[in-house]
Amino acid sequence: MKGIAVVGAGTMGNGIAHVFAQNDWDVTLIDVDEGQLEKALATIRKNFDRQIKKGALTEADRDGALGHITTATDLAAAAKAELIVEAATENPELKFTIFERLDEAAPDGTILATNTSSISITEIAARTGRPDKVVGMHFMNPVPMMKLVEIIRGLGTSDETTAAVMEVATSLGKTPVEANDYPGFVANRILLPMINEAVYCVMEGVATPEAVDTVMKLGMNHPMGPLALADLIGLDVCLSILEVLHTGLGDSKYRACPLLRKMVAAGYLGRKSGKGFYDYS
Ligand code: NAD
Repeated sequence: MKGIAVVGAGTMGNGIAHVFAQNDWDVTLIDVDEGQLEKALATIRKNFDRQIKKGALTEADRDGALGHITTATDLAAAAKAELIVEAATENPELKFTIFERLDEAAPDGTILATNTSSISITEIAARTGRPDKVVGMHFMNPVPMMKLVEIIRGLGTSDETTAAVMEVATSLGKTPVEANDYPGFVANRILLPMINEAVYCVMEGVATPEAVDTVMKLGMNHPMGPLALADLIGLDVCLSILEVLHTGLGDSKYRACPLLRKMVAAGYLGRKSGKGFYDYS
């Protein structure tokens, strides 16, 4: 396999394109928004330049990798790829439509992977005529830096498909970990309840955000405290993943903290809005 299409050129799509291009794959980066494609190419270049500064890459490597990337605004451009990784906006209906269209456009043997954080792989796969070839490839942000790829098997995902994407992830220098399709998979199933509990600590006056984060950094050796991490992820995104866990698993232990809801309602979304548990203005 050496041809990949990445659908969605936002935060994750540009990182995924970066890593594949760096490993000599021909990348077709697709987005409905032409402006996003231009922004993605500029971001990829900037991130390669950062790697050059660190001595991890040469200018020739960068130019070679950038030469592997072409862009398109039509999903039909994905048809020539052997692997398609979808990283479009986290919206179930949008992803269902994209997968229906990819299933029509791509040859029968093509693996259709999704980078979704919280939507059921099994449900996405059911929208296609090839559920055995649909799989989750959950890259972490920022993709060029983070080693982990959660490989998520839908109910119908075949052993061959799982093995093929595990091998691809390894060939990119990543460490793939296999998980089955349940709400939140592994990463968010564990991370979000921890973040939620940290918000409860603040709401109940157990400690300030700074104190909670210091406990987790110095006491548990986490590189970042849970509330600073929540601000980075986006408090709206945290809330929506908690809703997925709560609805999908039906256990009250996943109920979102009222303070988290209140902050999202107020527009305090973390770094992207300039204010969350910390002030970024
Ligand atoms: P983003 O908003 O930065 O980018 C989404 C992109 O999808 C946008 O450029 C948008 O124009 C494009 N898009 C929308 N509809 C499209 C369509 N029909 N065809 C092609 N492109 C379309 O989002 P993101 O943060 O990069 O997230 C993408 C996916 O990755 C989501 O499923 C999300 O859950 C998952 N994810 C995100 C993170 C993270 O930290 N941001 C981490 C892991 C997984």
